[in-house]
Amino acid sequence: MTVGVLALQGAFIEHEKMLARLGADSFEIRQKSDLDRSFDRLIIPGGESTVMGKLLRELDMMDDIRKLITDGMPVFGTCAGLILLAERIENDPAVHLGTMSIEACRNAYGRQLGSFFTEDKFNGKTIPMTFIRAPYISKAADSVEILSVTDGRITAAREKNMLATAFHPELNSDTSVHEYFLNM
Ligand code: GLN
Repeated sequence: MTVGVLALQGAFIEHEKMLARLGADSFEIRQKSDLDRSFDRLIIPGGESTVMGKLLRELDMMDDIRKLITDGMPVFGTCAGLILLAERIENDPAVHLGTMSIEACRNAYGRQLGSFFTEDKFNGKTIPMTFIRAPYISKAADSVEILSVTDGRITAAREKNMLATAFHPELNSDTSVHEYFLNM
């Protein structure tokens, strides 16, 4: 199993380390030609969604990645990655990949000036969760399975081949979310 990790910006190295711990091969996607490699899964890391969206357009990668996802490749978006997947952003007119039937609210979730650590359930199991200027999912279509609700906000969800978390599981040692993704 080979996972392509979008590595334009943000917290991609931590995902690679997590994948290595789970025995999955990964490589960094930095330019359009990297998408020609053969891979089975895609991770879109946390970072800054506006910057990542701009780079995806400038590097002419947005349409290719959207097609990979709509063709069914399993994809995992963390934090800014969740925002890129969302078909709508409540407090931003931008739409980036827009493949997932969720609405994201940017920079809106958090008790301690935007960044905090907590423990809560993901798919029924309690895991550590690190939030950094995180979004939450403000609306989700019926086709979306809710996997985490933290302080009354949806913070992890799955629709078909798409998994999104508002928190950063790659920043903690618990491997549950990545295992879930590798089993999708
Ligand atoms: N605040 C960022 C954004 O809006 C997301 C933060 C993150 O990925 N940790 O894109």
